[in-house]
Amino acid sequence: MDIKEKLQQKMAKEIAEASNKEIYDALLDIVQEMAREREKNCSKKKLYYISAEFLIGKLLSNNLINLGIYNEVRDVLSRHGKDICEIEEVEPEPSLGNGGLGRLAACFLDSISTLGLNGDGIGLNYHLGLFKQEFEDALQKEMPNPWIEKKSWLTRTEVTYPIMFKGMTLNSRMYDIEVTGYHNVTNNLHLFDVETVDEAILEDGIDFDKEDIARNLTLFLYPDDSDEKGRLLRIYQQYFMVSSGARLILDECTAKGSNLYDLPEYAVIQINDTHPTMIIPELIRLLAERGLEMDDAIDVVSRTCAYTNHTILAEALEKWPVEYFKKVVPQLVPIIEILDDKVRRKYTDESLAIIDREDTVHMAHIDIHYGFSVNGVASLHSEILKDNELNHFYKIYPEKFNNKTNGITFRRWLIHCNPKLTEMLDFIIGTEYRLDARKLERLLNFKGDINVLKRLLEIKTENKKMLCRYLEETQGLKLNPDSIFDIQVKRLHEYKRQQMNALYVIHKYLEIKAGKLPGTPITVIFGAKAAPAYVIAKDIIHLILCLQEIINNDPEVNPYLQVVMVENYNVTKAEKLIPACDISEQISLASKEASGTGNMKFMLNGAVTLGTEDGANVEIHELTGDDNIFVFGATSDEVIRHYEKADYVSKEFYEKDKEIKAAVDFITNDKMLAVGKKENLARLKNELLKKDWFMTLLDFKSYKEKKEEALKAYENRIEWAKKMLVNIAKAGYFSADRTIEEYNRDIWKL
Ligand SMILES: *Cc1c(COP(=O)(O)O)cnc(C)c1O
Repeated sequence: MDIKEKLQQKMAKEIAEASNKEIYDALLDIVQEMAREREKNCSKKKLYYISAEFLIGKLLSNNLINLGIYNEVRDVLSRHGKDICEIEEVEPEPSLGNGGLGRLAACFLDSISTLGLNGDGIGLNYHLGLFKQEFEDALQKEMPNPWIEKKSWLTRTEVTYPIMFKGMTLNSRMYDIEVTGYHNVTNNLHLFDVETVDEAILEDGIDFDKEDIARNLTLFLYPDDSDEKGRLLRIYQQYFMVSSGARLILDECTAKGSNLYDLPEYAVIQINDTHPTMIIPELIRLLAERGLEMDDAIDVVSRTCAYTNHTILAEALEKWPVEYFKKVVPQLVPIIEILDDKVRRKYTDESLAIIDREDTVHMAHIDIHYGFSVNGVASLHSEILKDNELNHFYKIYPEKFNNKTNGITFRRWLIHCNPKLTEMLDFIIGTEYRLDARKLERLLNFKGDINVLKRLLEIKTENKKMLCRYLEETQGLKLNPDSIFDIQVKRLHEYKRQQMNALYVIHKYLEIKAGKLPGTPITVIFGAKAAPAYVIAKDIIHLILCLQEIINNDPEVNPYLQVVMVENYNVTKAEKLIPACDISEQISLASKEASGTGNMKFMLNGAVTLGTEDGANVEIHELTGDDNIFVFGATSDEVIRHYEKADYVSKEFYEKDKEIKAAVDFITNDKMLAVGKKENLARLKNELLKKDWFMTLLDFKSYKEKKEEALKAYENRIEWAKKMLVNIAKAGYFSADRTIEEYNRDIWKL
């Protein structure tokens, strides 16, 4: 039966008569049926990718592409007067992730299926997501983000487990989302949910009773942990996830014939950051319960689990008081004590301990001692782990440490989000790059082809116009598609340095006011959510929104400079922003961004990077060469030395550099106070002058100079198009297919 007949049969009406929602629901059914009919890989050994986040984005189009029916569906709909893009708008975006780490997990699932590997994801089914960001009075307001509709991608299964907490047992139930690979197998994302969850306990905004665990456990991802109740809730969530996951893994392996001593032949568990760490003591406990001696259980689990480190920021390396485990999951305490005791018998170095002298459990230490692999996510990051952050561990376990530079799925971040560029690539270099991304290098043969270069520029302009239409419809913003689109979209964090970009905007504004006009108008676009309890991050959002208000309403300035903060940045918005970008802002303080994946998405879509030598920017630089990237700022070695010597004083830069002083002083001048809040603005200015932990002012001058160089280079359109072309051609290395092949070759061995 063809798609048209299937659709009409499902809806019991003609396509032309159906609403977009009816068509969406029918397509959802068709996709799920096709996904289930596909082959499964039933190899003996299976990968379990366990993660607190899976930022999967909308699924309809991605699945249609992967099932190979996107064009057919699009054409059938269009023949009946329906636009597939409008049908996509009907789908709510699943809100199961926060940022790069969650998006990485989603890209990995896509590649695992695309490579035909046997591997499922394990996570939690958060009903209200992270939060939905709204702007009110130039401030971020957090709202719940419900995404589960009556008909959704979730399939309720009959798999349930009783999960034991101190003084109560809660039932978990597994829901599945099909993960279709590109022209290959279907795997599953298993999301566990507590059966008693109750959205009705929500109070104002995102507040709820944090102690009503039975009803709140799977409401939100990363509930506020600024008080103890919130921190205990996180332990409840983590244990609920890992205990459910551990039981599923043991059930599946024993069903396939494992006697549990041979578990590593049946399962490999990739632990995505420290949130799922408790799966190690939980599996040990369950194996002991099923009859293994403690030492055997520890040995089996240690050969099954592998850990990915995502950050060296101290505040992100989880540490929990033993007290918390006693209050929530006392059954794990004796196991964790045994794990600590074994380490202490072998090594006297206190920094290697699992439970420290303050009775705090270091989650990453459990992963490193009791996992067989520790990987960083870009080569610079993995080197910093070995040489600095985890040096003591590297000395005792050099064989465990390895690098797996992150990647992205080209199905979503090129084929889906940039159909015009995809069409051009298909036409001039063939379609092999879709399964072998390195084939994009064939594009280099066209670097001297004026028609190809002009077409690249045309496509960029068309994408910019589409973004302009979208932002006008959704946020009432009128932007100039002939301006340079300079984009910084990512979570808001001081180390990512949105504040440095904002200071540049102020600098540019002051220049224009003084009569120094830019050669080409500039539009600076931001998009970022700040953690609800992260005060300075929210102040930075306030600063940007105030600048947007002042600059966009100043007729002397707005023909040359505009500033935009996109509300509620998520995967859907990323898919519209990235293809429209000219300059990709990747300006974290060197050594702090473990990898970044936004940088890769922008490169693939023909944006040129303005960045520090940080994370995967280093590898982008190596691939593109000096002429096709704009690199600035202190190196990671220099930054690490500043921290060691504690010799960075931001005030000195403020006092000796007139432009820095003018930009920083602007934050609290009369114009700003007329539109903004004094408390927020003064606090932010004070932070920059008294602390500036991520060294904004240190790099400001070189940032400003490099950005001017990039803006100038943009004016020679054909030379710029060559830079775009080289970036696209060299992006193949960052396919998540390459990353997953490396994980499989070195760690999973499926
Ligand atoms: C890719 C992506 C990120 C990660 O961006 P970075 O610049 O690497 O921090 C965050 N959020 C969304 C929605 C993304 O698509």
